Amino acid sequence: MATITLDDITKRYGDGYEAVKHFNLEVADGEFLILVGPSGCGKSTALRMVAGLEDITEGRLLIDGDVVNDRAPKDRDIAMVFQSYALYPHMTVGENMAFPLKLAKLPQEEIDKRVGETAKILDLEQHLDRKPANLSGGQRQRVAMGRAIVRSPKVFLMDEPLSNLDAKLRVQMRTEVSRIQSRLETTMIYVTHDQTEAMTLGDRVAVMRAGVLQQVDTPKNLYEHPDNLFVAGFIGSPSMNFFSAAVEGDSIKLPFVDVPLDDQHKAALRDGAIRGEVIVGIRPEHFEDAALVGDQSVHGVTFEAPIEVTESMGSEVYAYFSYEGGDVSHEELRDLAVDAGAADLPDNAGRAVARLDAETTVQQGKSSKLWMDSSRMQFFHPEDGRAIRVS
Ligand code: ADP
Repeated sequence: MATITLDDITKRYGDGYEAVKHFNLEVADGEFLILVGPSGCGKSTALRMVAGLEDITEGRLLIDGDVVNDRAPKDRDIAMVFQSYALYPHMTVGENMAFPLKLAKLPQEEIDKRVGETAKILDLEQHLDRKPANLSGGQRQRVAMGRAIVRSPKVFLMDEPLSNLDAKLRVQMRTEVSRIQSRLETTMIYVTHDQTEAMTLGDRVAVMRAGVLQQVDTPKNLYEHPDNLFVAGFIGSPSMNFFSAAVEGDSIKLPFVDVPLDDQHKAALRDGAIRGEVIVGIRPEHFEDAALVGDQSVHGVTFEAPIEVTESMGSEVYAYFSYEGGDVSHEELRDLAVDAGAADLPDNAGRAVARLDAETTVQQGKSSKLWMDSSRMQFFHPEDGRAIRVS
């Protein structure tokens, strides 16, 4: 058990590139913290500095209150599990798991005890005598975790441990990792670029962009109260819709509907909007087929939407509708498009996505009445992308 503190840590590589910039983070004893962000944002670098595999250029790293910047990896009592786990093919599962304990010259009795306990936690008891080649991908990944767990380290570090597994297995293993962490109660930092994994796994999630920590919070708070456009757009699938909008008197003009503002919204926007311009964010689930909404005037507005494409997910329907003008062009959102591989695709401008109840009768190619829960609008500063809070 251990606390980990990253105190104003910067990593500058030999070529001068700053991969991590003035990073501050406190991980509590027994906490399961997820570090998430697009590829290349510095997650692995941050994790490798905690492990001692990478020098810290500036700042301090503390484990249980002790500065450990100069402590060798083997003296940090940390175990790390990577994406590419190398099991020894000629050894059985049991021998693979026992290996680090043999190296540490523990008595055989203690080794057997720890391997037995770990195999139980990981559901590998019946596989101890098998060779890795005869195991499934998920079982092999569990053996790799077992090799870390047997050492009972103070801290676990995991770098995209599930990304080699196929989608279905990844979901299963996600549940496993959660279960194992809560059973072991060991402090864990887990790196992933997959926001779904981040949101379903940890106690708290730290979101990074271009070496800079953007926000650290519980999954629920990140989702409901993102601090800026980047976090708002990165967390959630399908992503939040963004529109550029004008505040005029008592209403806000979205490209497809004018929304009356209540007093709280007005107060927030009076301070936040620049010359009456603001970026509005609306999550897809805050739209609905108007025909399925009871009293539509409560918290909401209805509008006519040309439905371009519908995708049925079984339990719900994604309806993409078009609108004119009001597109947002912001550096933070461009970064997200690049990460999603969408930067080279035909422009997605002028199209928003609504998540509708499966009962909806909206049809592709036709215009339909949609309802929007205007109490759920989020506002962002048009220049720096910061959230404008509505109290
Ligand atoms: P992530 O884990 O978020 O994908 P990394 O921490 O691996 O990102 O890398 C962050 C940035 O640092 C990347 O732009 C990468 O190219 C750069 N980088 C990583 N290792 C080195 C290195 N040894 N020398 C110079 N730049 C590096």
